Amino acid sequence: MNIGFTAKMEEQLDDIADGELEWEPMLKEFYRPFDESIEKTMKEAERVPRESLEEETGESCELCGNPMVIKSGRYGRFMACKGYPECKNTKPVESPEEKAIRELVSEDVDEFCDKCERPMAVKTGRNGRFLACTGYPECKNAKPLPVGVACPDCGNDLVERKQKGKNGRTFYSCSNYPECKFAANPLPQPCPDCGKLLVTRGRGRRNARCLDEACGFTGATPQAEVEEAVA
Ligand SMILES: [Zn+2]
Ligand SMILES: [Zn+2]
Ligand SMILES: [Zn+2]
Ligand SMILES: [Zn+2]
Repeated sequence: MNIGFTAKMEEQLDDIADGELEWEPMLKEFYRPFDESIEKTMKEAERVPRESLEEETGESCELCGNPMVIKSGRYGRFMACKGYPECKNTKPVESPEEKAIRELVSEDVDEFCDKCERPMAVKTGRNGRFLACTGYPECKNAKPLPVGVACPDCGNDLVERKQKGKNGRTFYSCSNYPECKFAANPLPQPCPDCGKLLVTRGRGRRNARCLDEACGFTGATPQAEVEEAVA
């Protein structure tokens, strides 16, 4: 809207208030050009090319090698392969923290299917990463991804899981769940002493501890250290 138009509009509203102008024709006069400009905007907005709405991610598609880009859809933001429609690979958008946590857990797993003995491979699904039998679709065996550290409570493997829902956080829990209820929130930094996985202890995110009992590192989370330095 331009200032002249607004000033004229205000003047006319004053006239209406003073009873000098009929309000109905005046409103029509106001809305007609307004209506037209909305229609014009709608038409032009449709002409914005789809590519300009995409954001680069610096990652490439593990299926075809094309770059992965962030798109916005009806259900929010997601990563999709630039090779669409030939390649339909999509995955959820990760925060930098989630990405760092993912990179801490190696995907080089040396496990074999307990049903058909073929090797297991890492796949990413709606609820995060998991191990799937390479014999799929004949063998549909799947299990959670081990993080390479033993459960401090019972000694079984710890596995990576993801809370359900669109913004579900990644956490580590015991593969012996529900018998063992150990669970911990991962931190995006490795242990400063041994390089293994660092988790938060107790409520809040201020205390860190190494997941490896043998290492035994405990300390403030790097974030808490920053907060203390500032305070
Ligand atoms: Zn692809
Ligand atoms: Zn199998
Ligand atoms: Zn356990
Ligand atoms: Zn450690």
